[in-house]
Amino acid sequence: MIKWSATKLKDATECMFKIYLKYEEKIKSKENYALASGKHVHSFCEKFNDHRLKRNNYESAESFAKQGAYMWNNLVLPPKNLEEKFEGEKWATYNIMKNCLTNFYEFYGDREKPLDVERRFVLGIEDYLIEGYIDIIDKPFKHIDLKTGYHLPTEQELKNDYQFTIYAAAIPFLAQRDQRLREMFQLTKAQEKTLDNNPLELMEEVTGEFYHMRSGTFVPIKKTKNDLLELLNTIESVSHRAEQGDFTHHRGRHCDWCLYGDKCNEYRNNDQIILPEPIREKKSKGLLFDIHNNPLKLHSELPQIKSIRTPAKGGKKKKPKKLTKKDTPLFNDL
Ligand code: SF4
Repeated sequence: MIKWSATKLKDATECMFKIYLKYEEKIKSKENYALASGKHVHSFCEKFNDHRLKRNNYESAESFAKQGAYMWNNLVLPPKNLEEKFEGEKWATYNIMKNCLTNFYEFYGDREKPLDVERRFVLGIEDYLIEGYIDIIDKPFKHIDLKTGYHLPTEQELKNDYQFTIYAAAIPFLAQRDQRLREMFQLTKAQEKTLDNNPLELMEEVTGEFYHMRSGTFVPIKKTKNDLLELLNTIESVSHRAEQGDFTHHRGRHCDWCLYGDKCNEYRNNDQIILPEPIREKKSKGLLFDIHNNPLKLHSELPQIKSIRTPAKGGKKKKPKKLTKKDTPLFNDL
């Protein structure tokens, strides 16, 4: 069984060759300033908001931001040896980080801690397991995602983002299993009853927020059960491609920021390409989900996860395929 996540699904819908490099060849992506600093900001803010930890007292948003940036510069950054993409990226990152942390503290500094932070979940729906972490869970029935990136998305862009569909489904699922969260959400009797019967029925009552840390702006997110159906059908479709060994390249603008670009170009420069297996019929019926005829089923108990690799064809495990000149018949025909 493939364990899916928002990142894996995004990768798969963008380019299946990225999935091949990441999960079959197990190529490690190159860390960069944006990724590493984003992780540090998340972890620093998480500690401040974690209900299990004692909060440090900061005099002001500025002192909170200075402390976070100091830790980055002196503890986190030195062992990483990151390469600058442009001259001065190190200092630009430092300033962006301070700005994000200042905005965060101005909003959260005097507030009560949220219900939970960096909360892991593994959601089992139909034949799929979807895992992830929610940055912040709060009242009433809300998830908040912290982002340090440049782009401030519109509500429509967030509506199109599978990550938040997964979170909207995960919140009631967590509430069903975590007594503490369940109590703190202060659900109505009707909601409690629905939660016991089928938590997915409550996903449309979940609210979400995208917190754009650079500008201190919250953008609201709403998801419906139809969004979840689209998500499951997309997972079904990309799983089918993986089962068929279809790891076709999909080149485009997204290649500009692909973390596997170097490796991908190495294959390209060696005239190597992966060709999909001949198309086979999918054995199971009902390739796509249709909520009107069949209500979605949640797993009551989660099955064991053995591997996060794409499944081997014919049920057998296969060794990662090393590309050779034989894998490049397209080029022979040119
Ligand atoms: S560089 Fe482009 S084609 Fe290559 S793996 Fe990345 S997204 Fe796919």
